Amino acid sequence: MLLELQDVTLKYGRIEALHGISLQVEEGEIVALIGANGAGKTSTMRAVSGLNPLASGKIVFNGEDISTLRADLRVIKGICQSPEGRGVFPGMTVRENLDMGAYTRRDSAGIAADLERVFGLFPRLLERAKQAAGTLSGGEQQMLAVGRALMSRPKLLLLDEPSMGLAPMIIQQIFDIITEINQQGTTVLLVEQNAQQALSRAHRGYVLETGAIVKAGTGQDLLTDPAVKEAYLGVA
Ligand code: ATP
Repeated sequence: MLLELQDVTLKYGRIEALHGISLQVEEGEIVALIGANGAGKTSTMRAVSGLNPLASGKIVFNGEDISTLRADLRVIKGICQSPEGRGVFPGMTVRENLDMGAYTRRDSAGIAADLERVFGLFPRLLERAKQAAGTLSGGEQQMLAVGRALMSRPKLLLLDEPSMGLAPMIIQQIFDIITEINQQGTTVLLVEQNAQQALSRAHRGYVLETGAIVKAGTGQDLLTDPAVKEAYLGVA
């Protein structure tokens, strides 16, 4: 087991956003978290990356209790989040943004190899290596955010809404790349509104409703589940 959440609760002030979430991610998997707006998907990711403290419960990563570990130390352990809304550094070039992704690393040969890998996955970023990130299109910024996360060589890549605001063709490309990254050995926990794409790419998925997990299964099981279809796939 690479990641395990045990009965995790998370609060914003007095409001409890997660009411005891338990989930597991095995090494090598793509796991999708789906749910409506406000269900707690982003909060779950922030609990894992350490951006929000837990109110109670436990997070175990790679056999180690990381429940109270600082976010920057979780990055060093191999957890890296590509945040919702992209969050690239707009005034820096594409290349500088990618270099920032590797800031915790000292292995320059490994960094160079990973830069080549990212440019291989995203040729568009290579073409635009010297361009300011703020002038990239939405899809390109999303590619850069994923590329930057990969530069930290994570064991676990957390992707929050990678398809948000993108045209259908670009969404397809982003998901192809997520599949490819996974096949190259990175475990992925993915939050998505686009349940169809996410579940068809994921090994397993969890359905979140108002701060609790209401269903879990393989991507295929969830895709064919009548309640999931009706609520999240736009088909009755
Ligand atoms: P979306 O798909 O709309 O991004 P989500 O499933 O990611 O939604 P969260 O962002 O995790 O949902 O929010 C879960 C709940 O916590 C929501 O009711 C939201 O209003 C609340 N919440 C999130 N962030 C804060 C905050 N900083 N302060 C107070 N409440 C918050």
